[in-house]
Amino acid sequence: MNWISNYVRPKINSLFSRRETPENLWTKCPECGTMLFHREVTDNLNVCTNCDHHMNITPRARFEALFDGGVFTEVSVPEPLTDPLQFRDQKRYPERMRAAQRETGEKEAMLVAQGEIGRTPVVCAAQDFSFMAGSMGMYVGNAIIAAAERAVEAKQPLILFSAAGGARMQEGILSLMQMPRTTVAVEMLKEAGLPYIVVLTHPTTGGVTASYAMLGDVHIAEPNALICFAGPRVIEQTIREKLPEGFQRAEYLLDHGMLDRVTHRKDMRDELITIVRMLMGLGPAVRGDLPAPDGTAGLAEPKPEETVAPAAEAAAEAKTE
Ligand SMILES: [Zn+2]
Repeated sequence: MNWISNYVRPKINSLFSRRETPENLWTKCPECGTMLFHREVTDNLNVCTNCDHHMNITPRARFEALFDGGVFTEVSVPEPLTDPLQFRDQKRYPERMRAAQRETGEKEAMLVAQGEIGRTPVVCAAQDFSFMAGSMGMYVGNAIIAAAERAVEAKQPLILFSAAGGARMQEGILSLMQMPRTTVAVEMLKEAGLPYIVVLTHPTTGGVTASYAMLGDVHIAEPNALICFAGPRVIEQTIREKLPEGFQRAEYLLDHGMLDRVTHRKDMRDELITIVRMLMGLGPAVRGDLPAPDGTAGLAEPKPEETVAPAAEAAAEAKTE
């Protein structure tokens, strides 16, 4: 069975379709070059088991590991205009979009979800670096606004995972306009008194760093993540000086006061639960996943309506009477 699911199936999949290739047998760590067994890597949240390098992780995989029981509801994002500038480089923009959609199986570079972490309701948004380098276009702007609106409406904190090469070139000025738009979205959360937590992952650069990724109440980064506006190569060429070791990496930025924490991916969930519960004025989270007494009763905070079926609610009410 193992031989079939680990070797034969990925092989067949890779023969027939390109989208299925995450099932590839081996992944090469870009940092230390070790060949890692794919199952081993996914079980370890895409962190190299040899050198601890944090590789990219898709928003979907991240959410499955983050939310309680891997359960979350996707928040729908309003569709922007497609290719308003009719942009073309070597390929037309819609062609590039279709290729990215085929490769990742996702619609765009950001996924917004709502659910519970450690029994604490939250809204999360994550950027997908594998989708056109996570570039910020109109869709990403809409996604952040949708996430902020949902968080305000449900009075829940917003956690955002950033990963981007910057603004999306193919949308020109329209992508740059997402910087003030997302800033306004973050402002909505602040006015509502809700926490906004940013987790900066490798790499977070350009217009993303210059807007919503730097406006959090708490900034956490993953180890060795590159976080900058202009990259080290550009700076080096401009000032014609050698830059210090580890320049613009998470640990360097932590030392220089740009970040609050640098946290390993495996500890991220616990840390987010602690921070979110503290900022929302809730008691410490319950460790371990015990079933709540009496179905839904006994929780510190009310569950979001959609997760409680009306019939179950009525039954619970009848029981207490
Ligand atoms: Zn490695």
